[in-house]
Amino acid sequence: MRRMTGMRAAFGAAFLAMAAGAGAAEKLKVLIVEGQNNHAWQTTTPILKGELEKSGRFAASVVTTPPAKAPASEWEAFRPEFKKFDVVLTNYNGDPWPAPVRKALEEYVAGGGGLVVMHAANNAFQDWPAYNEMIGLGWRDPGFGDRITVDDSGKVVRTPRGEGPGSGHGPRHAFPVVVRNPSHPITKGLPAEWTHAVDELYHGQRGPAKDMDVLATAYSDKAKGGTGTNEPMLWTVPFGKGRVVTNVMGHVHGEDVGAVKSPDFLALIVRSAEWAATGAVTTPVPADFPTAAK
Ligand code: ZN
Repeated sequence: MRRMTGMRAAFGAAFLAMAAGAGAAEKLKVLIVEGQNNHAWQTTTPILKGELEKSGRFAASVVTTPPAKAPASEWEAFRPEFKKFDVVLTNYNGDPWPAPVRKALEEYVAGGGGLVVMHAANNAFQDWPAYNEMIGLGWRDPGFGDRITVDDSGKVVRTPRGEGPGSGHGPRHAFPVVVRNPSHPITKGLPAEWTHAVDELYHGQRGPAKDMDVLATAYSDKAKGGTGTNEPMLWTVPFGKGRVVTNVMGHVHGEDVGAVKSPDFLALIVRSAEWAATGAVTTPVPADFPTAAK
């Protein structure tokens, strides 16, 4: 009897250990890159990290670059081990990374790693061709590359390099976001249209725009300093075996983080990170996700 109890206890303990191990293994490892930005990265990174962890799906780490204009010797210490993570989220817009770091990110994504790029992170690295390929469109001049918009029928329109406006945005305002691919895991189950918080509405983004899947757009109203067409807000680009998601929303105005803290932006960050890491989204749509009426 005593022996049976002992065996049962041992079996129970082993089972619990296995279950706990499986649970821990299911957490996706996300690395947030920060350290330079023309937006308050010191404020936004903790918000992003907190939200990713709150989802229960992620274990989040942060790596901080040297400050702007740091000497090369300081950059020697910046060698993030991207390959140890399922997905990298960049909240970085600043000085170019050293060649070994650029190469490491390229190899990481090409080998199947996930990358999520938010707001001004697509302003970075104009002279890094692989990065431009990964993001598809960046904050660039019209002569840099093609422009992608979506017409009212939902058709993707490509405007050649040199034609039409370059990157910009009008005064901040709240605007509707329209889903253009409702069957993608990131957008599946979201409202067809919702009202985003007061934010910058990026327009005229430029780049190679190769194999872009535009998931959501916003109408860039000329009355609000815009372009009079539907500008991409959220899109994906494949890079080798990897998945890249760019979301140009999420401006921080001084210390006003309303656009980043808006439930739709945070939900999109979590869903984009999960999809970039795994190709699927299991995180439920939060109850406070905005609607078109709100
Ligand atoms: Zn901004």
